[in-house]
Amino acid sequence: MLPIPALPGLMMQDQLLVSALIRHADRHHGEAQIVSRRSEGDLHRYSYRDCHRRARQLAQALTTLGVIAGERVGTLAWNGYRHLELYYAVSGYGGVLHTINPRLHVEQLTWMVNHAEDAVVCFDLGMLPLVKAIAGQCPTVRHWIAMADAAAMPPSPPGVSLLCYETLLQAQSGDFLWPELDERCAATLCYTSGTTGNPKGVLYSHRSSILHAYAGALPDALNVGSADVILPVVPMFHVNAWAIPYMATMVGAKLVLPGPQLDGASIYQLLEQEKVSYSAGVPTVWQGLLAHVETHGLKFSSMRRTLIGGSACPPAMIHTFQTRYGISVLHGWGMTELSPLGTVCTPKAKHVGLPEAQIEAVKCKQGRSLYGIDMRIVDEAGQELPWDGKLSGDLQVRGHWVIREYFKGDGGDPLQNGWFPTGDVATIDADGFMQITDRSKDVIKSGGEWISSIDIENIAMAHPAVAMAACIATADAKWDERPLLVVVLKPGAAATREELLLHYAGKVAKWWIPDDVVFVDSIPLGATGKMLKNRLRERFGNRQLPGG
Ligand code: AMP
Repeated sequence: MLPIPALPGLMMQDQLLVSALIRHADRHHGEAQIVSRRSEGDLHRYSYRDCHRRARQLAQALTTLGVIAGERVGTLAWNGYRHLELYYAVSGYGGVLHTINPRLHVEQLTWMVNHAEDAVVCFDLGMLPLVKAIAGQCPTVRHWIAMADAAAMPPSPPGVSLLCYETLLQAQSGDFLWPELDERCAATLCYTSGTTGNPKGVLYSHRSSILHAYAGALPDALNVGSADVILPVVPMFHVNAWAIPYMATMVGAKLVLPGPQLDGASIYQLLEQEKVSYSAGVPTVWQGLLAHVETHGLKFSSMRRTLIGGSACPPAMIHTFQTRYGISVLHGWGMTELSPLGTVCTPKAKHVGLPEAQIEAVKCKQGRSLYGIDMRIVDEAGQELPWDGKLSGDLQVRGHWVIREYFKGDGGDPLQNGWFPTGDVATIDADGFMQITDRSKDVIKSGGEWISSIDIENIAMAHPAVAMAACIATADAKWDERPLLVVVLKPGAAATREELLLHYAGKVAKWWIPDDVVFVDSIPLGATGKMLKNRLRERFGNRQLPGG
């Protein structure tokens, strides 16, 4: 439907551009710091003003290399200041920043670089083996740029002439004016981390990125401000680190970028040393951090809040952070196709003053829609379901930063009647709090009724001996599917099958209790830290269960 032409408003109409973020930070928060732990292990420290100057030098360098507006510039890099400069330089001059997940298989990496038709790929030195593996098969890439000082430059691999990032920057004055682009132009490209089929390209516009950052920074969303010190553990190659780099720049918050060392001890050291107040990451990362802190009897002296998402945050983790360490967990839900933020779980005014256990129960939900996103749940016929917190259905969303079409159209039409079907199954309660019960392909259907694998996993995670738990469906002649619990125990901890099954008594309906438990050394994780349940289903899905 075309918009209705009424009386035009008479306000300025600057385009909503990514370059405006760093220009604003330079003018209004020029001294605020960006601290990065480099691959070499040392700390690099500079200001938003320095970042802006170097981003302009980089934009000049890229245009001098003949990279034109609309062309894709790939990155293979951890969270660090050079990666941040690329965020602003590439989108700023009109190019498209294509962040590549280095944890993917070489074939997938090659496929992505070729599908994106990257003209340039910039990489951290630690990624050199990947570059060597893929360079010969990526004909569109004209330049491979090593994000390093001249002194640290490695020899070029056969058939590739590496360029040095710092040498390129030094040759430029930084006297570069950001072009006034159309805000509907593409700024960044991210591929979905689908476990089946080829990944799909999601092309964020300048406009969608700015609106997403505005809404994400609001108090009932991430609530970030200039007084915050933010450490995004979530990688800058995964959905723009949940847009935290943009939000921090927008508000002038100190940014701490952890580089490649994401183990509990390294993150803890950085949190303490830089007095980080706020962090963000997937549950598996926080498991490592909590294990380190618990083992060494440590405390957090400055961290007060952490955003957890990417997969369901176990209630036991929310409880431990809050009660043992005084850290408030903000549970969020999103997807690559949503830039990624969809909902964030901030309690409402009516929850203030409730007993802590009740507030925690609210915080376990995935939360309320950000302004700019609408959501609904529908049944199999596509009929909208009521918001009663009980009935679950397919979650659909629409809004300013939701995908309209995949890059090059590869991936099919993502929309149904103007809504994006997320593939998640959820309930929504009368206050608008959404709770994911499952990924539709992970749902367990037993005797025609659904069992929430997330609920079963959350209960297992509350057992003191359990480090990680996955609940999957196994084939069953009578019930079609029955739940099986796959468990990794904490180092040195012990628990039997019977103990774990007894742990469910009184917590869920009897028929939800898994039929069996298998103990494994590890659960396979995907490139973004999510459990690969399809692999577990391949391994255990046809297992004969006791009584089956
Ligand atoms: P990705 O596009 O790789 O970021 O994956 C998006 C998917 O991750 C969503 O569709 C959900 O299935 C899952 N997800 C993200 N955040 C959460 C959360 N807080 N709770 C449960 N699942 C989540």
